[in-house]
Amino acid sequence: MFIGNHLSASKGYAAMGKAAAALDANTFAFFTRNPRGGRAKEIDEKDVEAYLAFAKERQFGKLVAHAPYTMNLCAAKEDIRAFSREMIADDLRRMEYTPGNYYNFHPGSHVGQGAEAGIDLVAGTLNDILRPEQTTTVLLETMAGKGSEVGRNFEELRAILDKVEQKDKVGVCFDTCHVWDGGYDIVGHLDEVLEEFDRVIGLDLLYAVHFNDSMNERGSHKDRHAKIGEGCIGLEAMRRVATHPLLSGRPFILETPNDDAGYQREIALVREWTE
Ligand code: FE
Ligand code: FE
Ligand code: ZN
Repeated sequence: MFIGNHLSASKGYAAMGKAAAALDANTFAFFTRNPRGGRAKEIDEKDVEAYLAFAKERQFGKLVAHAPYTMNLCAAKEDIRAFSREMIADDLRRMEYTPGNYYNFHPGSHVGQGAEAGIDLVAGTLNDILRPEQTTTVLLETMAGKGSEVGRNFEELRAILDKVEQKDKVGVCFDTCHVWDGGYDIVGHLDEVLEEFDRVIGLDLLYAVHFNDSMNERGSHKDRHAKIGEGCIGLEAMRRVATHPLLSGRPFILETPNDDAGYQREIALVREWTE
């Protein structure tokens, strides 16, 4: 089982590796730059080297980096789109220092342009910036459908994927809170939801899971994460997700409202279920 949480990237990769190991995690997520945007720290090659040796020794799974929230590839304003395109291109350049990992992003908000226009803009930018030689897989996150979010259902993600030319560089990150808030009944009908995912997108493109309970009812389109077992999805349904054979092998990332002790408990819980 590859399980971990979101870590602060401010002290570098080696520090994240150690922080993950201290929680008994063997993968982690981090923001490639301040989640609110801004400039990224340049990569320290010595730090990366130390991390890579540590990760190999501890048999870490693939990392699931997260793009900043300010990135919106389908913004209505051209300057925000240009800024976002520069951000994702620069993030992917820096991701290559730690080859073969995942880079997850929110497709964005179409802000009134309509989902179809949003889908075109997201795919267009991916076609501009994805490189055949890159080793990073870019993941579209399933979204809760808050406001004008693109990716509110499996069909919208499929529509983006269909328009991407570099098919081997893209996949999906399945966020349990978002999928639930988006209206999919992973509590009562997990098998059917995964079947639907497989039919519309393909389970072979499901590379990572964001493992979160939700503060709100199914279909609420709210996107408020809860601790595992303390939300509307609940402990039993979360256990069924974590132990579902069709999801095994993927990195599971906790994005729950916790301190370190809370993450350590949730990581131990998921390990208890799966190992
Ligand atoms: Fe996210
Ligand atoms: Fe998420
Ligand atoms: Zn969320």
